[in-house]
Amino acid sequence: MIQDLDNSIYDNSYHDYKIRDIDRVIICNERTVLLKNINGKIEFPTIREFKSFSEYTYLFSINNIRYFTVSDAVISDASYTYENIEIFRTALPKEERFAGITGFQLCSWYNSHKYCSRCGNGLIHDIHERMLRCPECNMTNYPTISPAIIVAIVNGDKLLITKYAGRNYKKYALVAGFAEIGETLEETVKREVYEEVSLKVKDIKYYGCQPWSFTSSLLIGFFAKVDGNTNITIDGEELSEGRWIDRKDMNDIEDDGITLTREMMIAFKEGKFKF
Ligand SMILES: [Zn+2]
Repeated sequence: MIQDLDNSIYDNSYHDYKIRDIDRVIICNERTVLLKNINGKIEFPTIREFKSFSEYTYLFSINNIRYFTVSDAVISDASYTYENIEIFRTALPKEERFAGITGFQLCSWYNSHKYCSRCGNGLIHDIHERMLRCPECNMTNYPTISPAIIVAIVNGDKLLITKYAGRNYKKYALVAGFAEIGETLEETVKREVYEEVSLKVKDIKYYGCQPWSFTSSLLIGFFAKVDGNTNITIDGEELSEGRWIDRKDMNDIEDDGITLTREMMIAFKEGKFKF
């Protein structure tokens, strides 16, 4: 999955580091990030490549390489351009694509949290942890992470696969949705399954999870057995398709090395998940 970096080490502990010439910079602008893309191999600029910038914020390190975001940046090397974050679904190396999408989540959060939402005063960064504080009313702000479930609904040797309506992502998916206020993840699973495909489920079992910075989410994957009626009625606003696929007909579904969804499909296809 996108967070699996083999032997590389991602260190997200916050430090009040001073920026250096060799440090890498991740800057976002809406749904794009500044980078150099050479046939799918990506690079982020280092501080050396900038003519000027105003403020900087430390993000995280991978293998002792430090990543920062900076504001009001003027870059001198025109080979760095703003690319849509979808590039991080395929780009290499793994460390840079994970840094890119994780840095995008943080950069977007910093960009949209410049002022206190309670009193309107400018926020300042805490020196000990990744947190923004209002010096006027002391309100604290931590990076937003929204929990969302993915559920593989199983009916004997069949798996329920879906396609989402109105999205760029056209491949087969699983039922998924954000947790709502006041519910457990198992309740989210039951509610989303009923809303999207009008089925009931039982024997909900945890499979695994992944950070999904494309939507500032933490995705939590479950398997569940269909309970009773197996007739699918899709919610046409959320889904364009929803159907049962037999395990033996899943030959053209392969692991993408990126998504929990695909890993769960493969786990079902290869009979690796047992209730
Ligand atoms: Zn305030």
